[in-house]
Amino acid sequence: MVKCSCLCTQVSFEVSIKPKNFGVCHCSDCRKWTGGVFMSVSGGDNIIFDNEKYIGRYSHSDWAERGFCTNCGTNLFFRMKKSNHYFLMLGVIDDDISLHFEEQQFIDEKPSHYSFSNDTKLVTKASMMEMLNNYLS
Ligand SMILES: [Zn+2]
Ligand SMILES: [Zn+2]
Repeated sequence: MVKCSCLCTQVSFEVSIKPKNFGVCHCSDCRKWTGGVFMSVSGGDNIIFDNEKYIGRYSHSDWAERGFCTNCGTNLFFRMKKSNHYFLMLGVIDDDISLHFEEQQFIDEKPSHYSFSNDTKLVTKASMMEMLNNYLS
């Protein structure tokens, strides 16, 4: 299990992280939400938070919500409502674990003023929308 917490540590939890691959989302919503890019790793569908009362949940669409600490403002996760699947912000992970940068999503929404040099899978908006439609149907 991997230890996770927010900046003020009111929110903490342990999670099993596998596979150890992470992705980045370049979409405009994620860039607005994080102030940069959204880097996340799958945290599965069974996370128990030690202090749920400090977790704010912003429902930004019919299919997903974004979680944050209501005390310190740390962004915590993106949760798919239908499957209860959590994607955790990499920054919440306390333990020193090694992860593999696997893919970049919404690559066609990435602004031109930055780019990663890692050799990753590149996923377009059209492919993401197709996966979302399959997930929802
Ligand atoms: Zn906090
Ligand atoms: Zn996004």
